[in-house]
Amino acid sequence: KKKTAELIWFNGEIMPWQNATVHVMTHAIHYGSSVFEGVRAYHTPHKGTCVFRLQEHSQRLLDSAKIYRMTIPYSLEEINQATLDIVKANKLKSAYIRPIAFYGDIGMGLQVPFGTETELVIAAFEWGAYLGEEGLKNGVDAGVSSWNRLAANTMPTGAKAGGNYLSSQLISMEARRHGYVEGIALDRNGLVSEGAGENLFVIRNGIVMTTPVTAAILPGITRDTVITLLKDMGYEVREQNIPREALYLADEILMCGTAAEVTPVRSVDGIPVGNGGRGPITEKVQNAFFGLFSGETEDKWGWLTPIE
Ligand code: PMP
Repeated sequence: KKKTAELIWFNGEIMPWQNATVHVMTHAIHYGSSVFEGVRAYHTPHKGTCVFRLQEHSQRLLDSAKIYRMTIPYSLEEINQATLDIVKANKLKSAYIRPIAFYGDIGMGLQVPFGTETELVIAAFEWGAYLGEEGLKNGVDAGVSSWNRLAANTMPTGAKAGGNYLSSQLISMEARRHGYVEGIALDRNGLVSEGAGENLFVIRNGIVMTTPVTAAILPGITRDTVITLLKDMGYEVREQNIPREALYLADEILMCGTAAEVTPVRSVDGIPVGNGGRGPITEKVQNAFFGLFSGETEDKWGWLTPIE
């Protein structure tokens, strides 16, 4: 079995990667009962290795658990500290970090007794650009999926829960089958929702739009970062419903997420977005975003937490 890093944080203990195993009757394997995060740490020349927006990610993990009435037996501060510890223990300069809380070997009953505590794992390992280095520069080809995102009041998309990712897998598998790098899903009303693992921004005539939380999205932390950076640069950002055809008429589209970072979309369903490459506002956002880690963008918001 492939080892992705030396060490892993498992229920309060840092142990060898291979030892962090669970039983086949783990509740979460059968019923999807997990909540998780994707976090990144970047190497910065001025502050060493820093975790990006640690507080917000740990808070969202606890929020996802709260929606599902799950008890994670660690506080926000303990989760923050454990995240820093595992990056440091693995001697990683940059990392993708995966905290996951899940119901373990607690029996086969679907109904979990209230108060049952989750297991908590925090893994940290090296992981490059999710949609490819090339994609970061030249943009990726995306396609609208025939699969809709989850309907309101079926499964909450505001929770980052394991089970939700069956929807994301259908969307991205279909996209790959059709030769696209990523899929874009519509919500049950036929309005633009998000990528399989990314939020979307659509730009036309200098106006930046992003889909609202009511369009079955996960309210991404990178989405919030992009909104904040754009506003800081003087752009107006409208959180509004986006019809499918706006994807075909956009000057620029960008996808963003912790794994995908800020990636331009160069075509949708084979229709070029703008001039078919990276647009100027997208490039500015990328520069501002990656500038946070190179030090060229001032971190006015306290988003970087050094591991030391
Ligand atoms: N939507 C979905 C479905 C996701 O999985 C992700 C990745 N976590 C995002 C949006 C982007 O969220 P974030 O910027 O917080 O990583």
